[in-house]
Amino acid sequence: MNKKTVRDIDPSGKRALVRVDFNVPLAEGKVTDDTRIRSALPTIQHLLDHGGAVILMSHLGRPKGKVVPELRMDPVEARLAELLDRPVRKLDDCVGTEVEAACRELAPGQVVLLENTRFHPEERANDPAFAAQLAALGDLYVNDAFGSAHRAHASTEGVAHAMREKGGEAVAGFLMERELEFLSRAVENPERPFIAVLGGAKISDKIGVIERLLERCDRLLIGGGMANTFFQAMGFEMGDSLVEEEAVETARQLLKEGQSRLVLPVDVVIADAFPEGEPVESRVVAPDQVPPGWRVLDVGPKTITTFESALGGARTVLWNGPLGVFEAPQFAKGTFALAKALARLDATTIVGGGDSAAAVRQSGLADRFTHISTGGGASLEFLEGKSLPGVAALSDKDGDE
Ligand code: ADP
Ligand code: MG
Repeated sequence: MNKKTVRDIDPSGKRALVRVDFNVPLAEGKVTDDTRIRSALPTIQHLLDHGGAVILMSHLGRPKGKVVPELRMDPVEARLAELLDRPVRKLDDCVGTEVEAACRELAPGQVVLLENTRFHPEERANDPAFAAQLAALGDLYVNDAFGSAHRAHASTEGVAHAMREKGGEAVAGFLMERELEFLSRAVENPERPFIAVLGGAKISDKIGVIERLLERCDRLLIGGGMANTFFQAMGFEMGDSLVEEEAVETARQLLKEGQSRLVLPVDVVIADAFPEGEPVESRVVAPDQVPPGWRVLDVGPKTITTFESALGGARTVLWNGPLGVFEAPQFAKGTFALAKALARLDATTIVGGGDSAAAVRQSGLADRFTHISTGGGASLEFLEGKSLPGVAALSDKDGDE
């Protein structure tokens, strides 16, 4: 990576303005999953240990540019203070004279948490004046919010420019560095065999990813709703399955290009209704045997075996997208079997995508994976080869720009 990181700067006596991804799930005023907070700790701790003061900022939920009391950062403050084992002062806004005063007074070792940046419409609009107000709070800027790096917002992109304009550094945090390192190693220089597994709901979200991976991997296994569109392109009747008509042509093209490397399910689990809480009637059939009124909701047992042997000997595996409607236990078998198979491998295993990461955590095998990306959309855009605005705006490693 040719961007500066927190390793390249001396935070001593400085106030570090740190963009983190504290967009965590909440229920009844409490953080229900603190993974994202934990993921930011190494960067925060490093800055504090090296004599810096830390000003944290993040968005939380979708307040649409106004103050929404339920989306205040207070629950995050509570959990963060516990995890850091030191007091965190939460402010009621992220810009303005009071915030400026509080940040000016900061002493080394102190931690401030700004209010939800999305309470201001200027955040998503990437308003330069707002970005400059944010930049004014600190002496240097650290972006550790990989999950938001694909958005050119004031706190991710504009602020980095504003900080550099006033002579401060804009660098990547450890989490950002780690995410970029693992994801780029997978697509640029993977240890082979390199196998990609793709699933999830829709092809159209992921065409760029499929194309790029197909060029680079040794085998591409496809499951989930995505496989249905491929089957449709092969001329199979898919009943009431999720199929994207407008992506059928693309699927046909991909089948042609990737023929020898594409592995599709050989059997599927179908049901005559979508599972809404109650279990539904289900069967296992070949993919070309889906009766009218039935829909594919998971890969079948033979496919699990096929995928397991296709993965044998892999040295790098990238997985994005569940193999079935794993939210319903009845149709989670394929997804969890894949998680188990990957956990057993002696390989670099990388998971991208919000739902896939959730599935891996649910499987209880998360610690057996090399890297689980904290960014859903960001990891997809990165895997497509797009430049992430929040990364592009940081200071380059070699020298002056
Ligand atoms: P990720 O967030 O990991 O990138 P996606 O958002 O693309 O994954 O897809 C996840 C969703 O795909 C899940 O909600 C899951 O229920 C759905 N899904 C998987 N298989 C099917 C299927 N056969 N039919 C309908 N939906 C499916
Ligand atoms: Mg998703």
